Amino acid sequence: MFVTGKAENTISPATNAPIHNPIVIAVPKELATGEQRVAIVPEIVQNLKKSGHEIRIEHDAGTSAYYPDALYTAAGAKIVSIDDLFNGARIVLRVQPPTLAEVDQLAEGTIVIGFMNATNNLEVIARMRDRRITAFALELVPRITRAQSMDALSSQATAAGYTAAILGADNCPKFLPMLTTAAGTIRPATVLILGAGVAGLMAIATAKRLGAIVEAYDVRRAAGEQVRSLGAKFLELEINAEGQGGYARELTPEEKEKEQLMVSTAVARADIVITTAAIPGRKAPRLVTKETVASMRPGAVIVDLAAESGGNCELTVAGKTVREYGVTIIGPQNLPARVPFHASQMYAKNLQSFLALIVDKNGALIREFTDEILVASLLVHAGEVRHKPTSDLMSGGKP
Ligand code: NAD
Repeated sequence: MFVTGKAENTISPATNAPIHNPIVIAVPKELATGEQRVAIVPEIVQNLKKSGHEIRIEHDAGTSAYYPDALYTAAGAKIVSIDDLFNGARIVLRVQPPTLAEVDQLAEGTIVIGFMNATNNLEVIARMRDRRITAFALELVPRITRAQSMDALSSQATAAGYTAAILGADNCPKFLPMLTTAAGTIRPATVLILGAGVAGLMAIATAKRLGAIVEAYDVRRAAGEQVRSLGAKFLELEINAEGQGGYARELTPEEKEKEQLMVSTAVARADIVITTAAIPGRKAPRLVTKETVASMRPGAVIVDLAAESGGNCELTVAGKTVREYGVTIIGPQNLPARVPFHASQMYAKNLQSFLALIVDKNGALIREFTDEILVASLLVHAGEVRHKPTSDLMSGGKP
């Protein structure tokens, strides 16, 4: 049984060359509420088959993302029931973390790859540790140039930013573009994006394509150039809060006050506000207060992408749409799942790139997980939680 991350092979007596058994890669149907994505799409099945792997897909796994079983079969996958999915599987590909029941079905040494959301899944992490499962968390892949093709945070944030702009437009009582018609001239709507990271930039690009006037703000001054290159106006503040790894740092109390003042003026003149501000490992910064919402135009819309991590708007309710002071405040959860076809396609491509790190050119599992991307994303291995913030959390300390 595979337990250590070492390649398993036998030697051909005739040629002395290693013979590899095909690696069985299993893809279950995602069961989390509202999850429509699937971890693999037919095009990637075809690519993995070329490397000699056996791909097993649970019946109906891709249906909600509009990839029917027949397309997987045509690409060379085997469609199986859940009872036959994990038997002999070396690698399990997922979007969401596995459930406890699933972990219990996996053989020791199985490698599970996907988003692990460790902070909210400590029980599952502990079970994977105890059952000596190896888990790689895609959200821990470092944001380095070499890892760009496996950066699932970015691919899914792209899907979220696009969907946020569409949601904002759909809930707005106004046209977004300027219109000159026989029935009069319509002024374009103003869209404000707070936080111009991956999701924010995609929301800017989408709102621009819909014809709105777009303004954006970010605490990282470097974001200004990217915002302007998309044709939007960057709101300048004398703060540059670029922290480690290209992410933002938390603002000082004085900086927060300055920010509040500028943000509230910009929010008050916007028809749609899309907030995406986040600081890794912390609660989302509060950018839009109740008082600011009260100063907005009737019919204005806020789409709060930070809803799941506490919200950038004080009045956001995660998973709900609320109406306060005539303003529609949307707190969406799992926005990428609303564009499951393309979000799955991008995610599957990320997984294919990641798999190339753990399978060598002969199609065998690699011996040691020494690559810096693997070291950073290895959450559980050989009976240990390898990610220190998670193991600290599990032993009762702070992450
Ligand atoms: P994120 O989701 O952590 O945050 C979203 C945005 O919120 C960030 O741009 C951040 O600066 C901003 N923000 C935080 N606090 C704020 C506040 N108080 N007010 C306004 N804005 C605030 O970030 P992300 O989108 O995942 O990426 C952030 C950075 O990482 C960007 O510079 C991005 O270009 C970079 N990145 C690099 C790579 C790579 O090199 N491979 C890949 C992805 C992202």
